[in-house]
Amino acid sequence: MALITTKEMFKKAYEGGYAIGAFNISDLEQLQGVLEGAKAKNSSVIIQASKSAIEYAGPHTLVEMVKAASDEIGVDVALHLDHGPSLEAVKMCVEAGFSSVMIDGSHYDFEENVRITKEVVDYAHAHGVVVEAELGVLAGVEDEVSSDVHKYTDPDEAKEFVERTGVDSLAIAIGTSHGAFKFKGEAELKFDILEEIQAKLPGFPIVLHGASAVDQNSVATCNEFGGNIAGAKGIPVDMLRKASSMAVCKINMDTDLRLAMTAAIRKYLAENPAQFDPRKYLGAGRAAIQAVVESKIEDVLGSANSAK
Ligand SMILES: [Zn+2]
Repeated sequence: MALITTKEMFKKAYEGGYAIGAFNISDLEQLQGVLEGAKAKNSSVIIQASKSAIEYAGPHTLVEMVKAASDEIGVDVALHLDHGPSLEAVKMCVEAGFSSVMIDGSHYDFEENVRITKEVVDYAHAHGVVVEAELGVLAGVEDEVSSDVHKYTDPDEAKEFVERTGVDSLAIAIGTSHGAFKFKGEAELKFDILEEIQAKLPGFPIVLHGASAVDQNSVATCNEFGGNIAGAKGIPVDMLRKASSMAVCKINMDTDLRLAMTAAIRKYLAENPAQFDPRKYLGAGRAAIQAVVESKIEDVLGSANSAK
């Protein structure tokens, strides 16, 4: 199966009141775990990789691996560049065969964000690739960018940004946060901002980043078997489900998969100290990822049975 874009997925998700999960990967086991999870729930899915994950795996290796796994497992999939830093990074991914890219100009001022996003949209659309941009600033740490404070997305700016750039989807800041150390207190999503953006941009797909729940069982298992991961709170599942039923068509989740895989591998190795076959412990990690993806599809995204 060829890689598909997110266009049709988002249209159906918007109309159906659910969201598509976008899961970050950098290796074979993560990829297979995500695709098997999507297959088991008959759900559409987006595989995404950050610039550093692409450098880790190699852009062509990643593209061919995703295509082959999509064929073998039998799931249609979009392959998306997460947080593309520049037109050059976007070009590298489009040339390698990605079907979707993000250009993250959110750390620039509004005019510069419009300029760089428009440049990427013109290039990507000429190659049949869709583009996600970001407006507003999420707190937390991602790839090479970190921020201590939220800067919520302004709805009027969002409308102007989408109209001027021709972008296909927009990541907004309404209180989600990157990384595993999200909140000391309770998370709060600004649904009033989401509602206002939806009213100004009817039918337009919105994206939420930094939406892991930071599963406390995974953190506890990591720490029980030799880990040292500080406690933190993620985004409550019911808030994300509510966002999915509104204009949010794509929800990014990375931390929860990392935590689940690490917990499963730590547990496996601790309980099987004589084992040294990587298929055994990586296989345990892969199964853990599949289980997380299945539960996200059911509880957070509402996307079960969305695949053709
Ligand atoms: Zn992000």
